[in-house]
Amino acid sequence: MQNVHIKRPQEPKQVIQYRGRFAPSPSGLLHFGSLIAALASFLDAKAFINKRGEQGKWLVRIEDIDPPREQTGASTEILKTLEAFGLHWDETELYQSKQRLYYREILSDLTQKKLSYFCQCTRANIKALGGIYQGHCLTKNHQPEGSALRLINQNGLHQFNDLFQGDVVCNQALANEDFIIHRKDGLFAYQLAVVADDIAQKITHVVRGCDLLEPTARQLTLFQTFNDSFLKCTTPQYGHIPLAITNDGYKLSKQNKAPAINNAIPQPALMAALTFLGQSPLPELTNASVDEIIQWASKHWQRSLVPKVIEINID
Ligand code: GLU
Ligand code: ZN
Repeated sequence: MQNVHIKRPQEPKQVIQYRGRFAPSPSGLLHFGSLIAALASFLDAKAFINKRGEQGKWLVRIEDIDPPREQTGASTEILKTLEAFGLHWDETELYQSKQRLYYREILSDLTQKKLSYFCQCTRANIKALGGIYQGHCLTKNHQPEGSALRLINQNGLHQFNDLFQGDVVCNQALANEDFIIHRKDGLFAYQLAVVADDIAQKITHVVRGCDLLEPTARQLTLFQTFNDSFLKCTTPQYGHIPLAITNDGYKLSKQNKAPAINNAIPQPALMAALTFLGQSPLPELTNASVDEIIQWASKHWQRSLVPKVIEINID
């Protein structure tokens, strides 16, 4: 009898991991607009199944690096709202306020590589010079005191392929600016912290609202700069969903005092959010539990149904 060789199925060499995230700033409670971003990023992660049959991971990061804008208790309330809506995150949430040493290290690496410089221009100065920063302080050798720190922008990336919006072209002059990575008031700039933590959390997909389309160019530039100089990292894929605006045309935001969502009866807002995202939830889900709605939505999530327009009116 011949030897029978049983061929074992080969383990795929590299199993693709999906790591998404929701990154709210605790400057207020979640409103319908931020619920949509949370839900879209969650569903995009959970709809992804790799070769081992594992769903994507979905992480939460609290972006609390701007204490003057923070609302006491908002972080806890945001997390409670996510739980109430069945959006359970996979790893311990990350607080940006605990990442300061890491951001410092990155800033000092950039300085060492001569990729940053101090700037003392005011907004009024820059406005008077045409509104786009033209590297005015590049050769001035300002002291750190009273200065902002700017990145020497060698890449100026301004185009990318968005998961929902397709090809996006950002304002090139803005994308080419030497933008601020550490603020005059001592706070870390959003662009720096967000990219540093997307790297720290190994994020592969960033799904968020269209209000962050323009900053994406700067974030792509930072990824490229890090990669070219001292920090090997993979640039995530970006996807931007439409913004919810009120009937009179305002973006729903904490600044506009958009009403917080109701944690006690999450189903109606959840169904409305799915409809907003183009997903046509089955009418019978209206009477289902939150977990059943979320399960249905994860199974049926289709990127191609997410509307391509930038703004949609809601009641
Ligand atoms: N923390 C930012 C905000 O609440 C979002 C950051 C991001 O998703 O990249 O607007
Ligand atoms: Zn300057």
